[in-house]
Amino acid sequence: MDRLTPDQRHKCMSHIHSKGTKPERLVRRWLWTHGYRYRLNVKSVPGSPDIVMRRYRTAIFVNGCFWHGHHVVLPPAGSGMDVALSSDCCKIPRSNRPFWVEKIRRNQERDQRNCQLLVKNGWQVITVWECQLRPDRVEQTMCGVERLLNENLLSGYRLKGPKTYTPEEETSLPLAAEEATGYQPRKHIEVVAAIIRKKGLIFATQRGYGEWKDWWEFPGGKMESGESAEEALRREIREELSADINVEELLCTVSYDYPKFHLTMHCFYCSLASEALHLNEHESARWLSQASLRSVRWLPADIEVLEKIHFL
Ligand SMILES: [Zn+2]
Repeated sequence: MDRLTPDQRHKCMSHIHSKGTKPERLVRRWLWTHGYRYRLNVKSVPGSPDIVMRRYRTAIFVNGCFWHGHHVVLPPAGSGMDVALSSDCCKIPRSNRPFWVEKIRRNQERDQRNCQLLVKNGWQVITVWECQLRPDRVEQTMCGVERLLNENLLSGYRLKGPKTYTPEEETSLPLAAEEATGYQPRKHIEVVAAIIRKKGLIFATQRGYGEWKDWWEFPGGKMESGESAEEALRREIREELSADINVEELLCTVSYDYPKFHLTMHCFYCSLASEALHLNEHESARWLSQASLRSVRWLPADIEVLEKIHFL
């Protein structure tokens, strides 16, 4: 029997809700004690993120690993493929499995929609996972969050930036002889990427680290000296996904100028030679159909590849 009246019960529940989950409180406490100020569950911001930091134009989501399917790869809805794989921090129960898979899928899809909407509105999004807040990892995780916040603050300044000048101003300015300031040639990076195809779907992975954290890409990585593209690709996929692949044919080579380096990426059609995939480095992964290909936020260089893909 409920000893509280409905009204008392409601107050009690909404009080619990307003305090947030334990991982959420942990993140908030860390930010607060390090001098950061924020708002909680701001309804006017898309997806009402757990933590909103306007000054940094940043929304932080603190995700429970089970409910949001951390490291879990789900097959596309209605594809009939059973490749939903549990991960170390999200074990999908064996009983009533389809129910849990759908539940997690809906949460992942909502997360993705919120993220896209936020990015479209000029917000930066940081996702912190429950398992990254374990006592042995929390400090490293939060220092990473702090670094991202500061980058976001700086990129905000860069966006507003100094006012652009007009050609008239230019002609009225005296010419200046520039000293030869050691212009660094932009670093050149050569990478290989795997377009893994299976039954009308391709495999996409989400970055779990670095400046482009949370963006989507084709798995792969840097070629090492003395390695052929094919060897590099097989090695990278073994490291990243614990999987063996057949490298089939070159789809295309794209070049892209990132702010800090110039990228050349050789993209190969591949197929899986082994069934299981394990996300060793990535945050998340998805099998995408032609229709859902653009439903994730691709890295700029990878976008150029999308149009060229032929689905099997
Ligand atoms: Zn996790």
